[in-house]
Amino acid sequence: MNLTNIFNEKTVFSLEVFPPHSAKETNNLIDSFKGVNSIKPDFISITSGAGGSQNDISLELAKQFQNDLGITTIPHITGLYRSKADVITFLNELGSNGIQNVLALRGDQIPDKKPVGDFKRASELVKFIKKHGKFNIAGACYPQKHPESINFVDDILHLKEKVNQGVSYLITQTLFDNQAFYDFRERLQFAQVDVPIEVGIMPCTNLNQIKKITELSGNPMPKKFVDIMDHFRNNQEAMRDAGINYAIEQIVDLLSNNADGIHLYTMNNAENVQQIWDATHTLFAETSNHPTERV
Ligand code: FAD
Repeated sequence: MNLTNIFNEKTVFSLEVFPPHSAKETNNLIDSFKGVNSIKPDFISITSGAGGSQNDISLELAKQFQNDLGITTIPHITGLYRSKADVITFLNELGSNGIQNVLALRGDQIPDKKPVGDFKRASELVKFIKKHGKFNIAGACYPQKHPESINFVDDILHLKEKVNQGVSYLITQTLFDNQAFYDFRERLQFAQVDVPIEVGIMPCTNLNQIKKITELSGNPMPKKFVDIMDHFRNNQEAMRDAGINYAIEQIVDLLSNNADGIHLYTMNNAENVQQIWDATHTLFAETSNHPTERV
């Protein structure tokens, strides 16, 4: 299914998984997500290694989710370490497996690895994909700005260029502070960037995850979140509950403020997905009855 019009029809609920390292783990992942099949997410996106190392497993996973579970998949594709020929091969493989959607990314820079040079920015990759197939293309965005951007203005101008090249909707980086998203949405409105934005929510259930996210994004966590996590840091079970409840609370607030959709960073944990869906699915039903109002 091509997802071009889905945001006109409903408040979107989607998931992100990452490819495991072996075929056995991949099968386990698919099995665990069979259990949550009743949720029927609007799509599942599948990450790819920045260096393009896990492409085969990503593709296999995408095929299985799409063909065995009947869920639309969106493989991520990174550009920095890929040649044009490589991208065409990958797109052809997606096309021949009935996959019509991709998330186009520049990818993170790998220390000491020289980029190929064909795609220095995600916008260049988007333009190229647009020319070489009928894919619906999603892009990444950063409500608190990308760490390499010198300021918000530059960040939004580059984002606008990416959208102009053919991105039809955006997915945010993991977000823990809803107000940062509302401010970002307003800035996009001023800049006349008018595509739907899904908010990326990650149920944080252990301290290592939090450290990694803070390092990658370069953004401080909101005080409320830090206080909660600090309080329960020595009790793994309580910490998991606190992380899930924080995510649920964020989703309630976002949906009541007309977010176009929620993209759950699942960390391949189907149980967490089920728990969050059980607590929020009626809210998606409610908001889907009302046309999404963009600010
Ligand atoms: P871009 O849109 O190219 O932006 C990168 C930086 O370049 C920004 O600072 C931007 O402002 C700047 N820029 C853009 N155009 C110009 C220009 N013309 N002149 C000067 N500066 C410019 N990484 C992976 O490796 N694999 C994944 O599967 C993956 N999935 C992701 C999914 C989501 C939803 C998100 C939010 C991120 C994901 N990432 C993934 C991380 C992403 O690859 C990194 O954040 C990367 O550093 C930037 O990628 P981008 O596509 O946002 O780049």
